[in-house]
Amino acid sequence: PPPPGPRPIRRLQESVINRIAAGEIIHRPASALKELIENSLDAGATSIKVTVKDGGLKLLQIQDNGCGIRKDDLPILAERFTTSKLSTFSDLKRLTTYGFRGEALASISYVSNLTVVTKTKADTCAWKACYSDGALTPAKAGTPADPKPCAGNDGTTITVENLFYNTPTRLSALRGSSEEYARIVDVVSKYAIHNPTVSFTCKKVGTPSPDVSTPSSSTTGQAIRLLYGQTLAKELLHVTASSTDKKGAKTDEQLDGEDEDEDMSEDTEAWSAEAHFTNANYQAKKMTLLLFINHRLVESSRIKRALEAAYNGVLAKGASPFVYLSLQIDPRSVDVNVHPTKKEVHFLNEDAIIERIADVIQQALIGQSQSRVYEYQT
Ligand code: ADP
Ligand code: MG
Repeated sequence: PPPPGPRPIRRLQESVINRIAAGEIIHRPASALKELIENSLDAGATSIKVTVKDGGLKLLQIQDNGCGIRKDDLPILAERFTTSKLSTFSDLKRLTTYGFRGEALASISYVSNLTVVTKTKADTCAWKACYSDGALTPAKAGTPADPKPCAGNDGTTITVENLFYNTPTRLSALRGSSEEYARIVDVVSKYAIHNPTVSFTCKKVGTPSPDVSTPSSSTTGQAIRLLYGQTLAKELLHVTASSTDKKGAKTDEQLDGEDEDEDMSEDTEAWSAEAHFTNANYQAKKMTLLLFINHRLVESSRIKRALEAAYNGVLAKGASPFVYLSLQIDPRSVDVNVHPTKKEVHFLNEDAIIERIADVIQQALIGQSQSRVYEYQT
């Protein structure tokens, strides 16, 4: 048969474009949940409760006690690019909150049935609103779409139902619900460790006891013990490092007994880091890395490689550590224009900062393993 001639080019429908864009931001239940947790933290919540059915595909609900959303803002809440966190382009540089693009709720509304119940302190009752395709939608066909008054506590409950019901290819790319649930538990656990003064729970619908449950006033170390177990927690070391430390870093042990002077850093940007990591006694098959940069859960293959190198010679071949690393850098030096789905981040002076942190961790590990050898000899 003759080759087909050119076919006419047509504009995609707006709703199709938005659904495709949404699929790029929200990959799976756990990525929707990450955005929702960040919104709750941005809202100042001290309690975050997650409820899940069928790996988050039937139901993903997050209840917080944060500042709530003003009723007047509800009509545009799920439109693309609506946000309370950014108004000018230059705001991007100073941004300290998690979200900044106003895309998360919009995206979720394009690929699920989204319901919001919210109450601010000033409100006398809560307001309930349902959304689809970026706009308010009636709870029942034939009824008005406006927010309805209802009972509720201060804060916000976001309910995501039937995620990806209208994007079957996305749905079929997912693993089974137990794997998706495991990813949800992983995200909640990581945010719980990074926010030990916020209480987190995560449970499946219909099960009496939660799979994650943290109190609202613990420390990082206590949170790690609670969620990753005592076997791991008893082998933890802790260091801090920053651009302003003369020596670049202090370990718990080094705080007394300063010795040789190191070069002042060439970093021009201010940064600080805190790490909790396992010592040579702990050996896992796979490395667990909890990496937060400016309080956002991210990935960095460079940091991962540098940490693996720091453990070289400390751990036997094939053994891997647990590392929680929280890095704060000048917001101006992070590339905030990186697409929100790009969890892999880059920042200014990346190599120098990473090298310093890995060095501090390695020094602590070496110091620890020497004292261990010493203990064995006596
Ligand atoms: P962004 O976080 O980038 O602003 P989102 O789509 O995630 O965009 O949220 C849009 C807006 O909705 C936020 O700017 C915030 O004002 C409001 N919001 C979302 N979730 C919550 C919440 N849990 N509590 C209070 N306000 C919220
Ligand atoms: Mg957000």
